[in-house]
Amino acid sequence: RSAASYIEEYFSSGTIADLPRDHFIGGAWVAPASGQTMETFDPGKGRAYHRFAAGNAEDIERAVQAAASVEREWGQMKPSARGAILARAAQLIREESAYLAVVESLDSGKPLGEAEGDVGGAARAFEYYAAAANALQGESFPLGHEYLGYSHPEPVGITAHIIPWNFPLSTAARGIAPALAAGCTVVAKPAETTPLTALLLADILFRAGLPAGVCNVVTGTGPQAGAPLVKHRAVRHVTFTGSVPTGINVMREAAENVTRVLLELGGKSPVVVLADADLEAAADGVIGAIYENAGQICSAGSRLVVDRKIHAALVERIVAKVKKLELGHGLKGSQFGPVNSGLQLDRIAGHVDRARERGLSIVAGGNRATDPATGEGWFFEPTIIDNVPADDPAAQEEIFGPVLVVQPFDDEAEALALANGTEFGLVAGIYTSDFSAAHRLARDIDAGQVFINEYFAGGIEVPFGGNKHSGFGREKGLEAVKAYCRIKSVAARIG
Ligand code: NAD
Repeated sequence: RSAASYIEEYFSSGTIADLPRDHFIGGAWVAPASGQTMETFDPGKGRAYHRFAAGNAEDIERAVQAAASVEREWGQMKPSARGAILARAAQLIREESAYLAVVESLDSGKPLGEAEGDVGGAARAFEYYAAAANALQGESFPLGHEYLGYSHPEPVGITAHIIPWNFPLSTAARGIAPALAAGCTVVAKPAETTPLTALLLADILFRAGLPAGVCNVVTGTGPQAGAPLVKHRAVRHVTFTGSVPTGINVMREAAENVTRVLLELGGKSPVVVLADADLEAAADGVIGAIYENAGQICSAGSRLVVDRKIHAALVERIVAKVKKLELGHGLKGSQFGPVNSGLQLDRIAGHVDRARERGLSIVAGGNRATDPATGEGWFFEPTIIDNVPADDPAAQEEIFGPVLVVQPFDDEAEALALANGTEFGLVAGIYTSDFSAAHRLARDIDAGQVFINEYFAGGIEVPFGGNKHSGFGREKGLEAVKAYCRIKSVAARIG
């Protein structure tokens, strides 16, 4: 079926038939132990359209038992055989991309075009880690003629994946694919506002040939379903993507069981634009950096750090482009969709209201909005706050919405101080035609990933993750598979 036919079904009936309702455990749809369900909402209308399982510790226990029951079988399978299943899953994701993209757009609110990009990214993650499964290897150690020393990677065991609502499918894929490639078995817990595509992914993996129990998904809230998963004594690794306070909690809980953690947390990433940059490319880059997914991206470029010589010209150019962004329901071909929840809308509006009360200059947007076609939905206008002092909360706190703050500088040293002047260190963008300046800044900016002359440049091949309060550990690239392996080394006297 085409995307258009699912969209037509949604707008005529108010839902889509046969969306998943239950947990996916042990290769089957399993009703919640408590019998309780919860609602998922269409952010473009601000209305519920489906109910799904509200999981608890009992459901987590079943899922972990399922993962434990096949740990040996999956971990001992030939890596090339594991890779073949992942490759088949990538193919199924591509074949079913229309459905996955419509469901992702509906559940998260993001424009369909962006959701299609995310589905392609998820397929790419499975292709990449299908190949990486074959590339896992150990080392030998120079102990001398009479000894043999070698190492090989082993899967760490059962891995837990706690997934946020801004990129539900692609975050699930970028964690689950390398974990499976390494030979781990998985229990994932998607965010409570976007549960559906992780369930669909688990079903696709099963249909691609993954043995029952290797990948399980339990839905529900953080405290009811996430916390018992993180604390479970059989779980050996937790990949958490979400906010800093929850990440700190997860790390604390995991410590009780000496469980390893990989934390992908928030950001307040700078886009540094030097005076010699191509202004048109920089303007488009900044707009993509902060208004894609209505700014709800951990690595959003939420601070424009700009040379004072081009400050007025660049801001004027960005404001003109922002005014042309078409706001509307994600499934109606809009360029700019709603935010994910009423709660998130209130948080964003609170940040902007407080900035206004502090007397900051809002040069674009600044208000709540609705879908112009229906008057419904949780929208916030694309917003720009100009001339924000370095220590102002608007320049320091992650807003996680479509709000760009502008910070002018006079020289490269000041640009660097501003770029590094928050508690976060996830990514940074640099726009300049000066090769050396670009690489000086890339060297000196305290961030896990730097983009030069194209924000979000790169792909699944490039390691991604934060410094400082943005977390630690790296996803994507071959680094990610290593996160799911532990090294066994052997030293033998052979005479
Ligand atoms: P959140 O921390 O509230 O929730 C994230 C996930 O954690 C959800 O699945 C939630 O149910 C679960 N959770 C909540 N409490 C839990 C607990 N006690 N134990 C276990 N799990 C629990 O974050 P959010 O508001 O959903 O997401 C937004 C945040 O995520 C932003 O700060 C953003 O920057 C960050 N984020 C980071 C990345 C990255 O890769 N660095 C990517 C996306 C989002």
